[in-house]
Amino acid sequence: MNSQLRREYLDALGLKTWTLRTAHGADDAPSLVIASVPAPSAGTAPARRVPAAREVPVAHEVPGDVSPAREAGADWDELRARVAACTRCGLSATRTQTVFGVGNPQADWLIVGEAPGAEEDRRGEPFVGRAGQLLNSMLHAIGLEREQVYIANVLKCRPPGNRDPAPTEAAECLPYLERQIALLKPKIMLAVGRIAAQNLLRTEKTLGALRQQVHRFGLSQVPLVVTYHPAYLLRTPTEKRKAWEDLKFARDVISRV
Ligand code: SF4
Repeated sequence: MNSQLRREYLDALGLKTWTLRTAHGADDAPSLVIASVPAPSAGTAPARRVPAAREVPVAHEVPGDVSPAREAGADWDELRARVAACTRCGLSATRTQTVFGVGNPQADWLIVGEAPGAEEDRRGEPFVGRAGQLLNSMLHAIGLEREQVYIANVLKCRPPGNRDPAPTEAAECLPYLERQIALLKPKIMLAVGRIAAQNLLRTEKTLGALRQQVHRFGLSQVPLVVTYHPAYLLRTPTEKRKAWEDLKFARDVISRV
């Protein structure tokens, strides 16, 4: 990705204080450095240094798969058909369609959100609309195209009114995601948003307490990193810098897998 394009993506993330510095003056080898972190104003804490992944202890929250055998044996087509016909929870009665997931079935990165929203329910694809565009920008900022990753949600059907998923709904739906993970064999999972993180890690800890750690998911112990949901970042742009820290952290983690 050229410098200008990446700068545009970082601008989309609201990270205008970040700039590109080329390594040894080579235009094709940009490295990201803080050019001018604004001096903290009175009452503002100074920016925290982003720890390298190797410096951060692995969080020993190791949930076992909820039901590893339920969808065992299903290939992508079979699994997609099972999801499309699913009536395991009440959300089947209110959905327009299921939202299975999208992306490269050989992807190293698996992005996991909470559940489809209204636009996703209409289009049958996760992370579309403004939040989807911001997610694309976030991926671009670390050198990834949307088509290179796989994107899915914990829930395959939209909760009415975009309410939080009920625990029973998440429990019924999670085996589908687990089978997707078994088929995909990602090198890293990025849980975006509190609800996704809490359901995947089976915890009630806050998102702030779960960030900047390497968690492990399921029997395959896939490294899992937590960050903010792009819809939240659209509402709270001041948190975009933290999301950028998380993305760099995740990139550091996968570089060591
Ligand atoms: S949310 Fe999941 S478990 Fe519930 S009906 Fe949809 S696919 Fe089935």
